[in-house]
Amino acid sequence: MRFRWKYCVSLSFLAFFYLCGCYAPPAFKPVTYVKPPKKEEPYIIRQLDRYFVRDWKYVVIHHSASPSGCAAEFDKYHREKRGWENGLGYHFVIGNGHGSGDGEIEIGNRWINQIDGAHAGVQEYNHYGIGICLVGNFNESYPTAAQMASLSALVGYLQDRCHIPSENVIMHRHFRETECPGRNFPYYKVLAKTVRW
Ligand SMILES: [Zn+2]
Repeated sequence: MRFRWKYCVSLSFLAFFYLCGCYAPPAFKPVTYVKPPKKEEPYIIRQLDRYFVRDWKYVVIHHSASPSGCAAEFDKYHREKRGWENGLGYHFVIGNGHGSGDGEIEIGNRWINQIDGAHAGVQEYNHYGIGICLVGNFNESYPTAAQMASLSALVGYLQDRCHIPSENVIMHRHFRETECPGRNFPYYKVLAKTVRW
């Protein structure tokens, strides 16, 4: 085989930067899949099939209590302000069109790696609860129709995949002294409209 100088040179550069400490690990990038899933497009949700799941018992719904945001922004906050080495405390973030797509579902690294959330403030629910955060402050506004469509599809998928009964699809305020996910959050619509694949 011919000796290839250009590979040799690029490898030496890489080794040089790595050894000099100039190498930076890639920035947090949540896996994202497209826009609100529709009933006739179950393959979008099915992208989640590639991840192994463990013994989850609850789905816990939150709002971000901010008008805008996305997984990368919350990840940065949780790492830098809260000091959580696993970053983003939720397993999923559903955007509202300000900071990320309207109805866009972002998959956090805690879901990909199947590790405990940091969203509940109670050990039982951090360990067994899948944390979903909808971007928005639902004391002041309402979730968008696209967010609700994505949430219903995601919750239905997770219930089937992880054998979670509807009574275990709960809001943060069901077990904690908090208004989360906001006074205007239409909880009963989630249960009524949950899409089962
Ligand atoms: Zn919450």
